[in-house]
Amino acid sequence: MKIGFIGLGNMGGPMAANLAKAGHVVTGFDMANVTIDGVTMAPSGAEAAMGADVVITMLPNGAILRAVANDIIPVMTKGAALVDCSTVDVDSARAVADQASTAGLLSVDAPVSGGVGGAAGGTLTFMAGGSAEAFAKADPLFDIMGQKAVHCGEAGAGQAAKICNNMILGVTMIATCEAFSLADKLGLDRQKMFDVVSTSSGYSWTMNAYCPAPGVGPQSPADNDYQPGFASELMLKDLRLSQQAAQSADADTPMGEAAAALYEQFVENEGGLGTDFSAMLPRFEKRSRS
Ligand code: NAD
Repeated sequence: MKIGFIGLGNMGGPMAANLAKAGHVVTGFDMANVTIDGVTMAPSGAEAAMGADVVITMLPNGAILRAVANDIIPVMTKGAALVDCSTVDVDSARAVADQASTAGLLSVDAPVSGGVGGAAGGTLTFMAGGSAEAFAKADPLFDIMGQKAVHCGEAGAGQAAKICNNMILGVTMIATCEAFSLADKLGLDRQKMFDVVSTSSGYSWTMNAYCPAPGVGPQSPADNDYQPGFASELMLKDLRLSQQAAQSADADTPMGEAAAALYEQFVENEGGLGTDFSAMLPRFEKRSRS
């Protein structure tokens, strides 16, 4: 396929490289001056998108996605697909899908989980929203860039799945960290805490697979001085998106709201910026109840 790829940062760069390595003809564009193995760089987004069968975007947020969509949708070939893999708000995903449909294009919102390692290794999970026809067109590319793609429903369903998952992740990480901090203060050994909880009803991905306590459980960013991994500010971004969506859908999400407020405080006032989101544990360790 002829593929246009716009947004070649930490995630988009390796994803585009994997598509090129698999034999697709990839033309890329990024505002920053980057070069990616096997990818021909274009001077603008519109030029990367022109004549492509599929255009993939991997951008920082919904406002930038909307701006890029305005540039590229008018020049894309009718019947081509616009596949946005960024994590953005549901409203932007649906607005871009409507705009694409009006222009005679297919579209899929397909945010990912798996991080930079998953992007480099081609092991991402894609959560996709869009028509069956659009999903079928993008699916062979998801196979190259990832190990799993779930068609979640119509436009916006991929973003909805992503932010609901990450709202659970943020809330669960906080719960796991505050429980470790309480256990510390009760004199409970961390390894014993892990041995019990990881096999009891308090188990979770944050405890069992990504334990925030250094030296306990499988290797995780806690064992690497809380270098990300998944940065606290990216968790904050996703929690804010969940609360924006909850607001517009009139959903009551008190735990998501509390998690967003706590990560905001952590990132903006407590030195959490640039640390892994599991660094909530040393944050709790340092504090007392009042
Ligand atoms: P990044 O900042 O490394 O990359 C974004 C790229 O977009 C940059 O290279 C930037 O120059 C480019 N860009 C910005 N505006 C542009 C424009 N108008 N035209 C062309 N290029 C433009 O970010 P990232 O880590 O690659 O994340 C991209 C998306 O993936 C985000 O939405 C993020 O939330 C999501 N995501 C990231 C991770 C992760 O672990 N990094 C995991 C899952 C999802």
